[in-house]
Amino acid sequence: QAKEIHQILDEKPTVTQTQLEHWQWIASYYMCSLGDVFRGAMPSALLLESETIISLQPEMPEMPEMPDEEFLIYQALQQQSSLRVQEVMSVLGKKSVFPVLRQMMEKNIVTLQEEISETYKPKLQRYVRLFPELESQQGLSELLDILKNAQKQKELVLAYFQLKTARKPISVKELVEAAGATSTILKALVDKGIFEEYYIQHDRVNFDDDGLSQPELSAAQQKAFDSITSNFEEKDVNLLHGVTSSGKTEIYTRLIDVVAETGKQVLYLVPEIALTAQLVGRLTKYFGNKVAVFHSKYSNNERVEVWQNVLAGSENAQIVIGARSALFLPFQDLGLVIIDEEHEQLFKQQDPAPRYHARDAAIVLAKMHGAKVLLGSATPSIESYHNAETGKYGLTELTERFGSVLLPDVELVDLKDKYFRKQMNGHFSDVLQEHIGNALSLGEQVILFQNRRGYSPVLECLTCGHVPQCQHCDVSLTYHKFKNQLRCHYCGYTIAKPTHCHACNSVDLTTKGFGTEQIQLELQQLFPKHTIGRMDQDTTKGKFGFEKIIDSFKNREVDVLVGTQMLAKGLDFDNVSLVGIMNADNMLYHPDFRAFERSYQMMAQVSGRSGRSSKRGKVIIQTYNPMHNTIQQVTRNDYAGMFTEQLYERRIYKYPPFFKLIKLTLRHRDFDRLTESARWLYNVFSQHLNMPVLGPEEPAIGRIRNEYIRTIMVKIPPEAKLDGTKKTVRKILDSFEAIPQYRNVKVTVNVDFY
Ligand code: ADP
Ligand code: ZN
Ligand code: ZN
Repeated sequence: QAKEIHQILDEKPTVTQTQLEHWQWIASYYMCSLGDVFRGAMPSALLLESETIISLQPEMPEMPEMPDEEFLIYQALQQQSSLRVQEVMSVLGKKSVFPVLRQMMEKNIVTLQEEISETYKPKLQRYVRLFPELESQQGLSELLDILKNAQKQKELVLAYFQLKTARKPISVKELVEAAGATSTILKALVDKGIFEEYYIQHDRVNFDDDGLSQPELSAAQQKAFDSITSNFEEKDVNLLHGVTSSGKTEIYTRLIDVVAETGKQVLYLVPEIALTAQLVGRLTKYFGNKVAVFHSKYSNNERVEVWQNVLAGSENAQIVIGARSALFLPFQDLGLVIIDEEHEQLFKQQDPAPRYHARDAAIVLAKMHGAKVLLGSATPSIESYHNAETGKYGLTELTERFGSVLLPDVELVDLKDKYFRKQMNGHFSDVLQEHIGNALSLGEQVILFQNRRGYSPVLECLTCGHVPQCQHCDVSLTYHKFKNQLRCHYCGYTIAKPTHCHACNSVDLTTKGFGTEQIQLELQQLFPKHTIGRMDQDTTKGKFGFEKIIDSFKNREVDVLVGTQMLAKGLDFDNVSLVGIMNADNMLYHPDFRAFERSYQMMAQVSGRSGRSSKRGKVIIQTYNPMHNTIQQVTRNDYAGMFTEQLYERRIYKYPPFFKLIKLTLRHRDFDRLTESARWLYNVFSQHLNMPVLGPEEPAIGRIRNEYIRTIMVKIPPEAKLDGTKKTVRKILDSFEAIPQYRNVKVTVNVDFY
């Protein structure tokens, strides 16, 4: 029997047909549920997710029998009138709380209610207008006549007619201010039926364009621009390989201009939106309010506004800049997708599902819209460059910097060399120290890169060698000097710095290794008159954390900026003449098939911050392995050499772009159950998949938050059918989950693992 409609939530669908098809593709390609994609894709204010709220039953029986867990919940409910499921979990210290809650419901102790999460609230502003029949000149004289004894009200009406000549809606605030009146006076006029009030919905974020025209492209830029447009005649995707500071952004801007003229929408993806204030500033100068930013740190309401503007195909969000999740917006007619710094690992979502790669998912989305895709990077990923070399993508090379400034001169400092070792001052070789001193004395700025935050990785006992470990993870704790704490970088577990060794009671404790905090302190001692700033996860919290640090460096309030890889991401400073890489080696020896590629990208990108405007910059790399191929390639700016070598290794060792990878991660608190289940899964995969299966392997950190971890890697050869393989994997996982003793083992699937 048909039921009555209770409520219409949306007048029009908030999701388009194309989006649904795209999300279905993501779910099937990345092996997750469509629900996972929805949750990752939509601002929660549009999802109307409901939440369970637990409260005490008003007519609760007189103190019924309650086991411990029930009593804990009961107690918490007496202090706080209602609890969310999440809160009950923390009261009981476990995830599975519904069995207990169900019992309490049956005993009439608590009630469970579904409540809908925060929904979108439009930002409304109050406006006034005269009743239509009074809007004419004749209306005015009649009005003044009616109001001749109410001087204040008359003034307000006159002020209204004055403002009206600007032909813009007149807000209540504006009118009251202009007339020097109060809102009570206005209210009297509304009550008399002279004025009426109405509301207009406003966007929370607004940009004014400066009406600036775009700069002339240099000859090299123009050539690249022409190459891109002509490649687009034949290919949907084009890779722009342009060295750092070659002026890629201006080329993107020109292309956006051409596409925006046709009325189509543009999506501009960047790896880290918090670092793009500069870019947003540059684009809004030309395109004003056509630019919308989709920002995970924006409020729900702000995100819904962008969503709705894009859905309506409104001019206000014709050009969207965003991090990876912006590709889920409801585009109506997408004409161009730009993916800047396409090599960035941040484009791949790790947790939670959908574990999609934004570059690859955007290429699929563009195809659905018939849009073009421009990938840009100074250090393209092996995958994309391979696609360009084999002709799948078009390729445009831009080999010179804008303004013909030379790429920086790279100098290596061998840390093994006795000569330099003798001259070490803390972690600074004399060569590096001298160059910093010179740059500072010329009023130039310096960037120092150290890929580790905190003061030093470990605190070690000199008597017995004991290193304090996290209680919940298999890692040593990191020493943070400023707060005098040891902290786990995986679960946040923190203790005060011990005064003696917990194993042998010795007080002989020393720090080993070094992080950004220590570099900052050492440098402050070497150059006490200069300001040393630091940019890492610890100093950039909050909505404008990044911007504050970047601005103070731009404004030259900070002379030297010490930081982690955040420094590598497309920042443009014009007064930096020296970049120092404190230790190149810890990146190189990561247990990962992409380690050399990433080290190259990181070093080349950080180096690219040096000498960007007029003067050739300098880069100093401190390393124990100056003859390492990757480091040599960085010194020669030899991307091609790096690419050829890495591609060869990928082919030999069966890695992407030749083999596709599916990585499975298993987690459980019980070590034996985990290893047994991982072995089961590995065996069945090996039997049923006719391809290499690796594992089960203990990752570098074998336990996090008290859960043991094992990984299994499936390597899919180029000739195998991708869909068929995934179907088999899915089937095996289904039968795995059906085995009772493995039911609580958490399994995550990561397709195209990065
Ligand atoms: P990339 O993104 O390739 O590293 P940018 O686009 O940041 O390089 O450009 C580097 C610098 O050169 C910026 O300061 C930019 O303003 C300037 N620039 C680039 N192209 C032009 C141009 N055509 N006219 C004037 N300045 C330009
Ligand atoms: Zn000890
Ligand atoms: Zn931990």
